[in-house]
Amino acid sequence: MLAVKLYSKKNMSTQIKVISFDVEGTLVTTDFSYAIWFEMIPQRYAKRHGLELDEAMLKVKQAYESVGDQRLEWYDVKYWFTRFDLGRANIAMEELQNRVRYYPETAKTLENLGRQYRLSVASGSPRHFLKHLLRDIKHNFSSVFSSVSDFNNVKTADFYLQICQQLEVRPEQIVHVGDNLQFDFTEPASIGINAFHLDREGKTNNPIALRNLTQMIDLLRRY
Ligand SMILES: [Mg+2]
Repeated sequence: MLAVKLYSKKNMSTQIKVISFDVEGTLVTTDFSYAIWFEMIPQRYAKRHGLELDEAMLKVKQAYESVGDQRLEWYDVKYWFTRFDLGRANIAMEELQNRVRYYPETAKTLENLGRQYRLSVASGSPRHFLKHLLRDIKHNFSSVFSSVSDFNNVKTADFYLQICQQLEVRPEQIVHVGDNLQFDFTEPASIGINAFHLDREGKTNNPIALRNLTQMIDLLRRY
């Protein structure tokens, strides 16, 4: 109920033009990413450098942590394939296409909201990643923005402002939903976007977080 109160705005339904979605952890599970970062890359690293898998995993994880998620390289599979000398990332990623999984309510949510709003993607993943993650659902979106590939940035307030400009809408005419408290909630909310934090497993103590996308549809209907 708190969520309803906080998100409540007069005439919201007539103002909202665009629903913007994060991708990983929001529309698509982390299965594909997990397979890239914690299976394929360590396996190839072990083979390339003649190490046991455990050892390779440790080295790879240390390297990931040394970069961290505030730097663009963190998100860039091609960077890691080059850094570790693992061959061509594109071909390796294609092999893992069957590991892409959508959340149970994803298709229905897009179909439902697509009837009333323009749907857009605002992702921190590079386009070479989105190509795989969005393959079966991309027809739902009128635009796809990748902060890394399009703006050379993580998802900052400025990234969201640029999206507003390109979509020719005001921040208050957008609803954005995503699972990262900083990149999907704090940053977009700071410029006036109606941001919804999605916490599927209830890991954060955010009292206004949504547990799934269906809850967002319910909230939007009330306005
Ligand atoms: Mg995410």
